[in-house]
Amino acid sequence: MMADRVYNFSAGPSVMPEEVLLEAQKNLLNYKGSGMSVMEMSHRSAMFADIFADTQEKLRKALSVPDTHEILFLQGGATLQFAAIPMNLSCGKTADYAVTGNFANKAAKEAEKYCSVHIAASTAPEHARIPRQEELSLSPDAAYFYYCANNTIYGTEWQYVPETKAPLVCDMSSDILSRPVDVSRFGLIYAGAQKNMAPAGLTVVIIDKELAGKELPYTPQVMSYKMMIEAGSMLNTPPCWCIYMLGLTLDWLLAGGGVSWMEQLKKERAKRVYDVLDNSSFYLPHAEPGSRSDMNVTFRTHSAELDAAFVKEAAARGLVNVKGHKIAGGMRASLYNAMPLEGVDALTDFMKEFETRHV
Ligand SMILES: *Cc1c(COP(=O)(O)O)cnc(C)c1O
Repeated sequence: MMADRVYNFSAGPSVMPEEVLLEAQKNLLNYKGSGMSVMEMSHRSAMFADIFADTQEKLRKALSVPDTHEILFLQGGATLQFAAIPMNLSCGKTADYAVTGNFANKAAKEAEKYCSVHIAASTAPEHARIPRQEELSLSPDAAYFYYCANNTIYGTEWQYVPETKAPLVCDMSSDILSRPVDVSRFGLIYAGAQKNMAPAGLTVVIIDKELAGKELPYTPQVMSYKMMIEAGSMLNTPPCWCIYMLGLTLDWLLAGGGVSWMEQLKKERAKRVYDVLDNSSFYLPHAEPGSRSDMNVTFRTHSAELDAAFVKEAAARGLVNVKGHKIAGGMRASLYNAMPLEGVDALTDFMKEFETRHV
């Protein structure tokens, strides 16, 4: 790692691979002899069209996205999809939602404006675990089943893909590209880019083309999947710079071994932190074993004062943004795709040392 950089455990926007930042820096002022930055380029130019097509292709390759599914590069963050999904996919029917955390809850609340929502499972208020398949109460004729693969705030992650008759809709904002997924099982996958892919400002939507074209009549055009598919995500100016950065991240990911490499790394990162938690009575992990997230490890000590001291002392050592979300309190170490193992080891060393000083 470069000497003046920190290990950034932020939940989002988050750490990016250093190779990616350096590559972007190298081409910042003059991209491929164009005499301009990608930031300054027309989204209709041939050069940007290449960047766009190339990035789409690399994402298709990384996630093995079948031809039945379209990849869209949109704006508005994951949060805009909370509304776009029911507007496009509910067709006047009930939609099933699994509420396993804050973002799934927000998505369900937003959907209530546009369709009838059935809570198929809820782990409120603790959100310390993921419901089992047998616990899901599925509507007989649901338009879709919605869930959030990784609960960033509480630190839980689905370890299985639910079996449902209705198309699966999944928020993968905080664990996309961290493990292989069988995209053909999903009606729609979406993710804000700022955790595992690129700077904030890009939302990736992967949609089964058969599901598009049934939007409610008042759906804004930029939120219509059908119109965006027809316009190749360029109904209006797309987030060009973020798309370029996603392309660089995908180069890094594919060169290293793709999503199976990422999965191996994510297991290793998480294991190193959970091992410290499990061998300690000083730290209290939030999530139940079996539901634990590899991406966001949440824990606390027995006192809020010690939690605050932990966060402060960690930051003084260049281990920044380990404060938990205000809803959950305590600590949270976000271990996204770009977090190097050295960063994890620096954190676990600090955790052990902090414990010896405070027990
Ligand atoms: C961060 C996050 C969001 C919110 O994303 P925005 O791009 O800020 O709207 C939604 N869902 C999950 C799972 C997240 O981690």
